[in-house]
Amino acid sequence: MKTLITNGTIVTATDTYVADILVVDDKIALIGQGLAAEGAQVIDAKGKRVYPGAIDVHTHFDLPFMGTVCSDDFETGTIAAAFGGTTSIIDFAIQGKGQSLQQALDTWMAKARGKAVIDYGFHVAIGDMTEAVNAEMADMVAGGITSFKLFLAYKGSLMVDDGALFKALRRAGQIGAMICIHGENGDVVDILVKEMVAAGKTTPYYHCLSRPPEVEAEATGRAIAFAEIAEAPVYIVHLTSAHALARVKEARDNGQPAFAETCPQYLLLSIDNCKEPGFEGAKYVMSPPLREKWHQDVLWSGLASGDLQVVSTDHAPFNFKGQKDMFGTGDFSKIPNGAPGVETRLYLVYSKGFLGGWFDENRFVDLVATQPAKLFGFFPRKGTIAVGSDADLLIWDPKAKHTLSQATLHQRVDYCPYEGTKVTGKPAVVLSRGKVIVEGDKFLGKPGAGQFLKRGQVWF
Ligand SMILES: [Zn+2]
Repeated sequence: MKTLITNGTIVTATDTYVADILVVDDKIALIGQGLAAEGAQVIDAKGKRVYPGAIDVHTHFDLPFMGTVCSDDFETGTIAAAFGGTTSIIDFAIQGKGQSLQQALDTWMAKARGKAVIDYGFHVAIGDMTEAVNAEMADMVAGGITSFKLFLAYKGSLMVDDGALFKALRRAGQIGAMICIHGENGDVVDILVKEMVAAGKTTPYYHCLSRPPEVEAEATGRAIAFAEIAEAPVYIVHLTSAHALARVKEARDNGQPAFAETCPQYLLLSIDNCKEPGFEGAKYVMSPPLREKWHQDVLWSGLASGDLQVVSTDHAPFNFKGQKDMFGTGDFSKIPNGAPGVETRLYLVYSKGFLGGWFDENRFVDLVATQPAKLFGFFPRKGTIAVGSDADLLIWDPKAKHTLSQATLHQRVDYCPYEGTKVTGKPAVVLSRGKVIVEGDKFLGKPGAGQFLKRGQVWF
């Protein structure tokens, strides 16, 4: 099968130029001007931008959490991702106490298989850092799982102690893997939460106050310090604050391989959203929490300067009615933590970041596609437009204007945190390994067409 994309402006992390792209089967076969191909399906991209399909390295589909399960599964979640221009995701397989990493992976593979419409990989979250797990980490790397996650928060469930953190980092350093860190000090958070609830401070706003930026900075700095001793790279997920960013910047300035992502919610929403009247603030309860507005400019600057490398989503949707309000109306600590975002990432980063003047279009592509592929071991198979790369392509209409609304998005959740936000730019056509899966408002993909993304060693 041949597809010829003509006259588009190709934009990668480094270049911008007008050329045609010939796709043969699932790969990019040729890039050049005035290409012709007998019998090819032709897509006219004149006036459009052609980007590598975007990559979201932080999603949660079908995640059991805080007494319920995320409202998107791998089918609805990846369809929503595709509509938003994302053609690969990395989700998290979570190891329970006493489980092997393989058991965790098998569980999540079964959730994705037959459902995902785009390619998917997994980070394995280590919950029980035993000697057996230490050995098994190498098997995971051999099988294409080249990153692991550790939670320094959620005391009593997902949180690991300092010993486990250090052991996992040291092992990752030996086997060429990346450790992803949820950086919040769970012990301190646990005390603050209990004190606030006991004092009757139970509304969603107190969720933010119970997890101040200092606890994020402390855990981030601790993970970075341990990584330095362990001689391992480290990647801080969903970084939210100037405080934590300073720790990452200091490490990077010293030449340490420390990396971090932030997410649109930390760039565009703030602690004020959690003060919305009634129970509305619950829509914005996530961890780490939303911050005071002034942090936003610091994060945007970090993306522009290179101190932050990636924008992911931490998509973890729970319905406002029936999930957010299940146990939490009288106690913020029982509100499922998380918010939707897998579909709205590019709209927001393009409109507010690139058009907003924070960085250029190449950096936009870098942040949402190229850096994720490089840091997680699948560049240049994905994350760029090059001969031989997978034909995951996003043909983007830079002039289309619309208003974000739950009514028109595809995420399976009953609200949109950005309801009413006006954005410019929209996917016109999305291809996953050479097949058109989204055309305007039509979904043309197929559940189960997404393949497991076997990743190689990290590249930076
Ligand atoms: Zn997450």
